[in-house]
Amino acid sequence: MSRIRAAYYDPEGDRYGIPTYWWRGAPACYATRRQLRDRGLRPAGQPIAAQILWRGIGGTRVAYLYRLDLARPKRTATTRQRAAIDRALLARRTCPICRRVRPYYIPRSLGECLDCNEGR
Ligand SMILES: [Zn+2]
Repeated sequence: MSRIRAAYYDPEGDRYGIPTYWWRGAPACYATRRQLRDRGLRPAGQPIAAQILWRGIGGTRVAYLYRLDLARPKRTATTRQRAAIDRALLARRTCPICRRVRPYYIPRSLGECLDCNEGR
């Protein structure tokens, strides 16, 4: 183990306060924010769990790690959610009087489609 690697290796966090590993030395239970995103995950509000230190341009570089077991799927609309949204939009275009679906939202002020409103 090189001296630099030894300085960047602190799995118990005694020296740095959080578990610290050298580049590519971190256990598989951690991931960077970018690695989480690549897996469709997000940190979900968890604090930084560990760090990777390495010697890079301009000196010591750091990458923060999050726990994979606390990560949550990214918030994207599911098929069911999208269907609910579509139904809601369809309802707003459906005239409550003639029940026809219009290409526009039924004006709240009228409470009916324009055709129904003109027919009165
Ligand atoms: Zn109508």
